[in-house]
Amino acid sequence: MLHQVVGIGLNIWDAFNHLIAPKYCLICGELTYSDPNSFDFLCSTCRDAMPAPPDSRELINRLSGSLRADDIALDYAVSLFTVSNDRDYMTLIHHLKYYNYRKIAYIFGLEIGKYLKNLNKTDFDLIVPIPIHSAKKRERGYNQSDLIAAGVADYLNIPYDLKVCKRVSYTQTQTRLSKNLRIDNVKGIFKIKDTNIVKNKSILIVDDVYTTGSTINSLALELLESGANSVISATIASA
Ligand SMILES: [Zn+2]
Repeated sequence: MLHQVVGIGLNIWDAFNHLIAPKYCLICGELTYSDPNSFDFLCSTCRDAMPAPPDSRELINRLSGSLRADDIALDYAVSLFTVSNDRDYMTLIHHLKYYNYRKIAYIFGLEIGKYLKNLNKTDFDLIVPIPIHSAKKRERGYNQSDLIAAGVADYLNIPYDLKVCKRVSYTQTQTRLSKNLRIDNVKGIFKIKDTNIVKNKSILIVDDVYTTGSTINSLALELLESGANSVISATIASA
């Protein structure tokens, strides 16, 4: 795994940071050193109390709130857990996004791999993380979705590609836009750089949080238009 991360162009310092994770539970503060079933950053009690995963149909249905039926490109969607009013579990996502706890993203990637295997939903041959805009990546230093993808790929032994697509625009907030404007707004966010890589492939898109699903769906549409066979998605949380 370390080899892969270094191999995708991060320097040694990045690779070292990638391995740093807190040794206490980010939810309850309990030390996790001596807890063999912990994740380092989540004690086994909080891990077991994690909110239940949502149903795929529920996630896909959210898309019909803002999209025409023809524009729904995702076939299936999984999240490890749902956060609604449970702010504690949302803390985990904030940590992996903003506090440089890169290992959390990778470990959740492994968990997603395990979950997909249990669901017998591993019939895809390429994993594509949702890219962030290059300016944002420079600012943050990493894209958390890349690390989640690395975890899924390592667990399932299915390749991932960090460079096949590019985010060409920042997304505006979607909530106040009308339905038609929202449809326009999610088009043209992503550009597929090499369509040969995605042609005839079944693809898993990976991201940290599934909310309306429209950003993930927008990449799924681009992938289908570039010749992909089918697209499903996996995220750590749905909110
Ligand atoms: Zn805990």
